[in-house]
Amino acid sequence: MLELEKLSVSYGPVRAVNELSLRVPSAGAVAILGPNGAGKTSTLRAISGLVPHGGAVLLNGRKLSGRSPREIARTGVIQVPEGRRVFGSLSVEENLHVGMVAGRGRERRFSISDVYDLLPALARMRGRAAWALSGGEQQMLAVGRALVASPEVLLLDEPSLGLAPAVADRIYDTFRQLKGSVGLVIVEQMAARALAVVDEVFVLREGETAGAGAATEFADPVRLARLMIGVH
Ligand code: ATP
Repeated sequence: MLELEKLSVSYGPVRAVNELSLRVPSAGAVAILGPNGAGKTSTLRAISGLVPHGGAVLLNGRKLSGRSPREIARTGVIQVPEGRRVFGSLSVEENLHVGMVAGRGRERRFSISDVYDLLPALARMRGRAAWALSGGEQQMLAVGRALVASPEVLLLDEPSLGLAPAVADRIYDTFRQLKGSVGLVIVEQMAARALAVVDEVFVLREGETAGAGAATEFADPVRLARLMIGVH
């Protein structure tokens, strides 16, 4: 279980996240939704150790707060960054080999061939340089690279951003297949796909929790939009 206890993130005088508490049960799936600037990316970066935070982040009761990003990745909390930062000059398969490094020392959960089974487009392009992939293929590679690192929890920052709807659907099909074997924290501005996969939802607005509950409670897009912009 991944737990955030009153997580806060500040950049100088700007408080980006204010006392966010949430739990992701082992192999459970939650979404963090909210408009631009709500603090979603800051939350993921704090979990990964990329920005300092107040409060605490725990994995299975052990504190991650204060550890380096590398140490946190080694515990199995693996972030798939926004913007699909794959290594452009390396091939698809070389990118996957790089991903395996973060999983060293833990039980292997996904091999490269498991990733190719899950994301067949990558198998077809295994020898191609990552820079030559489309945006959607690069996003798939970023997910594949995180999987070979044997994640216990995957942190996904706007995985559908900038993708054609059919490609975004395919990425979310993958998350659906992963659900139940890996914990998923999905950050999105666009809610519909995430709502169809996750169990629980947290809505952030200006760093505060504006709403939280079962995904089914957020099915009404008008209510959700009102929560996000603060109109009741
Ligand atoms: P987006 O969807 O635009 O990424 P977000 O919900 O992920 O939005 P954050 O990126 O976490 O929001 O930003 C939350 C707040 O913190 C915003 O007011 C933003 O301007 C501010 N912020 C984010 N990064 C920094 C930084 N490096 N320095 C100063 N302020 C920052």
